[in-house]
Amino acid sequence: MYYKEDSIIYHNGAYIHPEKASGNMYSQALHYGNGVFEGIRAYKTKFGAKIFKAEAHYKRLKYGAEVMGIPFNYSIEELIDITYKLLEKNNLQDAYIRPLLTTGANMSLLTSEESLLTIQCWEWGKYMGDKLLKVKTSRFQRPNPKSCFVEAKVTGHYTNSILSTNEAKNAGYDEALLLDMNGNVAECSGANIFMQKDGKLYTPKRGHIMAGITRSTILEICKEESFSVEEKHFTLDELKQADSAFFTGTAAEVVGLESLDDYVFPLSWESSLGYKLMKLYKQEVLCERSTKLSEAI
Ligand code: PMP
Repeated sequence: MYYKEDSIIYHNGAYIHPEKASGNMYSQALHYGNGVFEGIRAYKTKFGAKIFKAEAHYKRLKYGAEVMGIPFNYSIEELIDITYKLLEKNNLQDAYIRPLLTTGANMSLLTSEESLLTIQCWEWGKYMGDKLLKVKTSRFQRPNPKSCFVEAKVTGHYTNSILSTNEAKNAGYDEALLLDMNGNVAECSGANIFMQKDGKLYTPKRGHIMAGITRSTILEICKEESFSVEEKHFTLDELKQADSAFFTGTAAEVVGLESLDDYVFPLSWESSLGYKLMKLYKQEVLCERSTKLSEAI
């Protein structure tokens, strides 16, 4: 599914077939989850393939590497360049792009002095599908910001996302909603959340969540379209009185929620602000909006 006979990945300076890549079995990333990654999308637009918010994604990768002490030997411009070349080599315009910076062999708990960059890309539809989601509140909380850097996309952090997704899917739901350590609503396992109440949107403020690039794009679109939106903490009880809700993320894009546990969101998806934003977000990534956000191209 992820690669074919003629697929190419970028691997530590070379463009090679994925099966030609080699890894180190003593890698600290493998043993302790000390690696950082990104999830980026490119879209086929009237201007050709455009990587959406490439700079913001690579800046987040760099931030993650810095806080984890992982050597980061590339400039953002170089990385963007490499990624466009990679898309070309794979003959892809609509693609999901996965840069991964792993650490070298080191069985101690001090960050390895070596790092290795791999960038993969493949065709990937909307990660959570197109239908409205049935969501379960997870028994797992998002990581405590005093025990790690929650805004860094560190590979090891994703065991929390795997636990909550397994739990939700095994109970017959589509996705998990996680609370933060204070019991406020945080986010989905791999996406941010917005709720609509009385014509206004709310999304948890930063501190316990991934600072999603889709989330900030949605906030910018709201500003441009004069949709009322506020970043603030809210509880599960408040979410269960909302008219509508949706998730945002690079892989998921904008996807509506049908229900949360036993609570069914009463407003029809088609008449919600989330639905309008789903359409506007699509236009934005395809460079089809008349107002262009700063980094869209
Ligand atoms: N929350 C989590 C936990 C995530 O993994 C992601 C995906 N990076 C998001 C939110 C959404 O972030 P973005 O919009 O930058 O993809």
